[in-house]
Amino acid sequence: MTNDGFEQLSTVVGLSRQSNGIALTRRLIGSLREMSPGTEVSVLDVFGRRVTGKAQSDIGPDDISIRRFDDTGQRLEKRDRVLDLMDVIRTLQPAAIESEGGESGQLIIPLSGEIGPLRLVVLEQVPVDPWLRAKLLQVIEIYGNLVRLMDSRERDALTGLLNRQTFAVLFELASQRAREQPNHALTLAVLDIDHFKRVNDTLGHLYGDEVLIHFARLMERSFRYTDDLFRFGGEEFVVLLCAARPDRARIALERFRNIVEKYDFPGIGRVTVSIGYVGCGENVLPTSLVDQADRALYFAKENGRNRSVDFADIDDQSTGESGGVDLF
Ligand code: GH3
Ligand code: MG
Ligand code: MG
Repeated sequence: MTNDGFEQLSTVVGLSRQSNGIALTRRLIGSLREMSPGTEVSVLDVFGRRVTGKAQSDIGPDDISIRRFDDTGQRLEKRDRVLDLMDVIRTLQPAAIESEGGESGQLIIPLSGEIGPLRLVVLEQVPVDPWLRAKLLQVIEIYGNLVRLMDSRERDALTGLLNRQTFAVLFELASQRAREQPNHALTLAVLDIDHFKRVNDTLGHLYGDEVLIHFARLMERSFRYTDDLFRFGGEEFVVLLCAARPDRARIALERFRNIVEKYDFPGIGRVTVSIGYVGCGENVLPTSLVDQADRALYFAKENGRNRSVDFADIDDQSTGESGGVDLF
């Protein structure tokens, strides 16, 4: 085996050792940058293909949301960039766009799976070197297989959101992120669809499932990339938001509640959501935080539903050791 072959093998081994999807994607980006210095690498997640009800080839920019995988979690705002990507999203075929000088070009490689989002690996300023490009593509293909495997472990098959089993690991990562950013704080919210049983009872389970898929889609569109979105089970969802200002979390959750209230669920009509949330203090166990957000959620349910409630507000009303459990 050539030296090059060994290097590539160690890159692949490095990828296969990652313990979760986020670490895996981060590792891919690092490896590709090492293999091709000067090349810009980004990974984009494309959400929404599965609920548009359109053929893949008819999907337009408004049907989907695209988010860039990075530490700041920015959305891909520039519309022209999105249009560049639409062909790849519609055809699911890789694209190579050579620059005018002919020395380097852009590669867009789509990786689609059953459960997770469609991922696009975008390489810019890749030298026109067939050997190098073939190596990069091989590594990306291996990443594609590994990330599909991660998706099947970390994501809920119906909605594609993260599952409950992944919560503990992502909670740690999110806490770390919040600590590293000045004036940032983590908020944990539990979201529960109101009177969901009625949808199942009157229209049937399939319609119920459809609501869950649309609901998840609204979450993906409404929250930021750095906000971790989970389906905890049934019609219960969890959001971990890392927010700059103390009231940003409240605003984001209220905005989402409003979006749900106004959304016309196809064939079903209006659906509302109740939300309980809590600011995550240092050294509080995630299970206690979920419990506190759950109590705020219960308060929202008891007080008319279709509202969001901060645990701090109900906690004020509780006294002593009971911590609010006996409130209701
Ligand atoms: P509330 O406003 O108090 O939350 O009322 P609710 O009817 O939403 O709550 P409840 O907990 O009584 O009912 C939840 C229902 O969710 C019961 C179950 O039939 C349904 N459900 C749980 N998981 C799934 C699923 O994967 N698909 C479908 N279609 N329904 C599910
Ligand atoms: Mg419930
Ligand atoms: Mg419910």
